[in-house]
Amino acid sequence: LSRRIGGFTDSVIRRMTRIANAYDAVNLSQGFPDFDPPEALKQALAAVAGGSLHQYAVTWGAPNFRAALARKQSRCMGIPIDPESQVVVTCGSTEAMMAAMLTVCDPGDRIVVFSPFYENYAADAILSGAEPIHVPLRLPDFALDAERLEDAFRLRPKALILCNPSNPSGKVFSRAELETIAFLAGRYDVFVITDEVYEHIVYAPHEHVYFASLPGMFERTLSCGSLSKTYSITGWRLGYLIAPATIVNGARKVHDFLTVGAAAPLQEAAVTALNFADDYYRQLVVDYTTKRDLFLNGLDRLDLRYTRPQGAYYVLVDITEFGADSDLAFCQWLAREVGVAAVPGSSFFREPINHLIRFHFAKRAATLDEALTRLESLR
Ligand code: GLN
Repeated sequence: LSRRIGGFTDSVIRRMTRIANAYDAVNLSQGFPDFDPPEALKQALAAVAGGSLHQYAVTWGAPNFRAALARKQSRCMGIPIDPESQVVVTCGSTEAMMAAMLTVCDPGDRIVVFSPFYENYAADAILSGAEPIHVPLRLPDFALDAERLEDAFRLRPKALILCNPSNPSGKVFSRAELETIAFLAGRYDVFVITDEVYEHIVYAPHEHVYFASLPGMFERTLSCGSLSKTYSITGWRLGYLIAPATIVNGARKVHDFLTVGAAAPLQEAAVTALNFADDYYRQLVVDYTTKRDLFLNGLDRLDLRYTRPQGAYYVLVDITEFGADSDLAFCQWLAREVGVAAVPGSSFFREPINHLIRFHFAKRAATLDEALTRLESLR
């Protein structure tokens, strides 16, 4: 077998879901909702099922879907996006990120990744042959250290990966931080590959600033996103990459040979979601704010320590007081004995950090209540 696959393990996030299932634990590990998408979307799916869209869509995305996506992202990002030349529809943002790296990096190129980071990026870097340079964010609030970032840029990386709002930390990069990144990206001529799948899950007073919308940044940004989180359809595997036409031309070739294309009937059905009015996104924030507060209030009652998420739907909880040998052992014990599954924090950090575990709260109130009730046995 290849040396490449020796470089990484299976996903700990997805492994924790299998462990949760084995122990019948409340699964707050892999982040996905236990509630249905909007009714209109389910109806749109039912409608396409009876139609004739059972063959390949256009490789880089069905024209309908690209048009609706470009309209919606233009409105949200505040920049014009041409659906004909600046969009690739992918199988989830997972493929978009992989395609982005393969589009800009040659084997041996360096790529800057903040730590903590979403675990896929490490495997993506290995698969593309790029060498990650990790830049730690400063605990406990994950502040950007501009000097460390510049040190990394001095090593002449090809690209930086920016997950904003951030998984697993819940950090939302401030405009000032993004401007610092933009300044350095310009000075050192670095591409920025964003993962903005939580663009619509941001808690007041924080606001999401799209990196590509900063002055001069569209030209060097590969904006990756997804419909999974925004419309609660993680199983549809619909993502996208938006960038200038020259970059998109390259990404379309990569995408073509990776997957040929995303599912045609699902693209057609999802146009309904992309056409939702702004009210939908306002309500999404209200709903997730309620979930976040429910879960954090529960953690407060249990006197557990955590960093308050500003966006996304994850919270890193400090387990130092439990004196576990490892965060992985703690998570296995927690799933088996307490009946709640979390992800060990070490799977997100480059530094030897062992005292954090990640819960997600994209669940119905009843599920979160059940998890909190079970967690009471920690006390
Ligand atoms: N982004 C989600 C998480 O971090 C899951 C993504 C996945 O498993 N594809 O848990």
